Amino acid sequence: MRQNTNGDIIWFQFDQFAAFDGLITHGVFARQGGVSAPPYATLNCGLSVGDDPARVAENRARVVATLPDHPTLVTAHPVHGTNVVEVVPEDLADEAAFARRIYTKADALITRARGVGLFWAYADCTPILLVDPAHEAIALVHAGWRGTSSAVAVNALTAMHERYGTQPDEVYVGIAPSIGPCCYEVDAPVRDAFAAHPLAAQHTFFSEIMVPTGDGDQRPSLRLDVAACNRAQLLASGVRADRIEQSELCTGCRRDLFFSHRLENSKTGRFAVVIALR
Ligand SMILES: [Zn+2]
Repeated sequence: MRQNTNGDIIWFQFDQFAAFDGLITHGVFARQGGVSAPPYATLNCGLSVGDDPARVAENRARVVATLPDHPTLVTAHPVHGTNVVEVVPEDLADEAAFARRIYTKADALITRARGVGLFWAYADCTPILLVDPAHEAIALVHAGWRGTSSAVAVNALTAMHERYGTQPDEVYVGIAPSIGPCCYEVDAPVRDAFAAHPLAAQHTFFSEIMVPTGDGDQRPSLRLDVAACNRAQLLASGVRADRIEQSELCTGCRRDLFFSHRLENSKTGRFAVVIALR
């Protein structure tokens, strides 16, 4: 990813998406450059974390103003599920439809509508951006461990195939910063959830490390690499390895740049990820 700055705003873009500059605009926004106070300082774009809605609105407006063509943000209510929702142009034209969309439960958004900024606000979950230049279609996925254990990113790919004729080997994927195995401890039920899904079970990245207990002793700690699981699932579904670009940044390690739900004891903001067709 390459880093851009606009005033106090720091935002990232995937290198390989530069080839589609005429087709899409996108951005992964760091936590700087907004108006929210601690613990949401400063560019918090999440409405469900207890921040002042007026400040969140101003922060989202700054995100939109930063992006070329200023897309209209459209989102859904993420529930760590596998539901894929198609965003259609009518969602922009009709205010009631737009309101309904926000309360639609989904963790993957797909569209061919221009000017629609598929948007979620993240803190540790894995943002996955998909671009199909052949059919001029895009997707944004919200993949936490639960969604990943049900292959939500592959669901988005399948939905793009069914709706738009997308072929997996035509798709370019960007996997944005999320919590890495260095910072992400999970428990046995998480491993059980992956084991219960036919595709997810074949592509798990669990590891066990020893960590200090605080009283001079050590204990085993189960770790999960969610981004690696998603990458492997997409590869197994036909996406080309050289078309998956993965950020090496961990939201837990890089709290100077990103919000981390886990590492900031659940009292923090959410950073914006947007992709739009121009
Ligand atoms: Zn880390």
